[in-house]
This record gives sequence, C-alpha cells and structure tokens, in this order.
Amino acid sequence: MSNAQNVMQLESLLPYLSASRRKFANDLIGFWRRERKLTRGRADWVGILIAEAKVYQYREGQLPANHPIPEVPETMRAFEEQKALNAKRTAEATVDLGVDLTGLQKLFAGARANGKTNPKIKMALANGTVLEVYAAKSDSKNPGSIYVNVGPEYTGKVTPDGKFIPYADRRLDDEALSMICEVVENPTQAGRLYGRKLKWCIFCGTQLDTNESQYYGYGPICAEKWGLEWGNSVERKAEDRQATLEGVVDDVFDKMLATAPRFPNANQVHTPSDQLDLDLPSGSDGD
Ligand SMILES: [Zn+2]
Repeated sequence: MSNAQNVMQLESLLPYLSASRRKFANDLIGFWRRERKLTRGRADWVGILIAEAKVYQYREGQLPANHPIPEVPETMRAFEEQKALNAKRTAEATVDLGVDLTGLQKLFAGARANGKTNPKIKMALANGTVLEVYAAKSDSKNPGSIYVNVGPEYTGKVTPDGKFIPYADRRLDDEALSMICEVVENPTQAGRLYGRKLKWCIFCGTQLDTNESQYYGYGPICAEKWGLEWGNSVERKAEDRQATLEGVVDDVFDKMLATAPRFPNANQVHTPSDQLDLDLPSGSDGD
C-alpha cells in the first residue's frame, strides 16, 4: 500500500488508539498533509500504529468474524509487558506497616475541603532530618496519594486506601512513621509539640513569629484549614498573667532576703527604722 493509503487508513483508525498514540498519529498525518512525503521512520510508524489499532479493534470484537487475527506489534507487546510488570511490582511492594493511614488521608481531605490546595506537613526527626508528607498533585501520576520524603529522599507513598508503598527497596523509618501517626491521632497536640520544638508551623513550614503562634505551635490560618484548636486565648492570658505574678512575688522575696536587717543582738530594741523598706517594682501589682 502507498503512503497515502496508509495515512488514510490510520486516520480512520484514530478512535482505536490511546490518547497519546492518537496525538502521535495526528502528528504523522499532519506531516504527510504538509509535505506529501514520509521519511522511512515515519512510514514505519504509520504501519505500527495501524497494527496497534487493529489489535484494539480485534479485542473489542469489532472485526468481522472471518478476519485473520492481527499480529500484536512489538511496540505494543513491550508496552503491555511493562504495564503488567509495574502492576506486579506495585502489588508486591505494598507493605503492611501495622497502622491504618486512612486517617492521614482523612486529615488531608479535610484540609483540602477547607481550601488548602496541596496539603503538606513538614517536621524533623530527632537528628534534624526533615520529614515531609505531602499530597500528590491532582495532575500527577498518583492523584490521591500522599508522598513521604525523609531528608532529600522520596521514601514512598500512602495510597488513597491508606496503604504504604515504598519506593524501590526503601523503608519508612520507625521514628518517621510514629511522628506521622501522632499527627493523625491528634493534629492539635502534634502541631503544638513540634511547632514549639522546631519553631516552625508543621502545617505550612513557616517560622512562628507572633507570641500567639509560638504558643500554639501554628498560626490561625493553619488552625482554620487543618481544623486545629484555636481561640482559647482568654485561658492562655490568665495562665500567662499567673506566671508573671509569680515572677514578681519571687523578685520581692529575693529583695527582702537581700535587704533584711540582721539582728545580731537579740536584746536590741526594734525601732521604726528597722522596718523593711521594700522597693517594690512599679506596676508590680498587675495590669
Ligand atoms: Zn502554618
């Protein structure tokens, strides 16, 4: 068959090609229309794509009963073998970590529902290695999965159904796993604990710069997006005032001890000048 006939046939078979193959076929057809000629390589590809489309047609039962079984082209065989191999590897690699990480998926889903487009948690192991847990982008290869990085290394992913699939032969560190579990179990508590320790908000990675966010371990925006506790600052201020008062009282006693007149002679008569002259710090009576 001539190139012209082959190109026409390929055009009629476009619906039987996958999206990426169809794009490739359209490029070849476009080239033919512009140039009215095909290089040997392009002509071969037109033939290969026709053969691939015929196999799809055959599998879909769309070829006449007496049509000879089309031969599966090498390109298609290689592609299908790779696909089967990937599926097998994924099935084999799925490990049971003994914990249910669907809670992590729920936590991320909640953040997303509150307008956090790409939820991410950033913590650090005891030795300072950064631990990052972040949602795969919706247009990525694994939409719905959550990736886990330990340091610069991609360790694996949590699937939408809460299973962990390590990357290649990597394993998720026990410390990292238990930290992830802490966040899942009680995000408010973990956010506070790690935020205060690391001096950054684990839900957005920014430095904690206000007194309030340093107290909570995260800021009001993250509190809202991740559904964390916020706003019991009245209680907190009472707590802080109590601490301040205790500090003032301690100072006063220190001063008293330092300036208290000694009484070397028990028989000495007390006079008004012996009275303690306390120099109270101004404003010490509370605000
Ligand atoms: Zn934050």
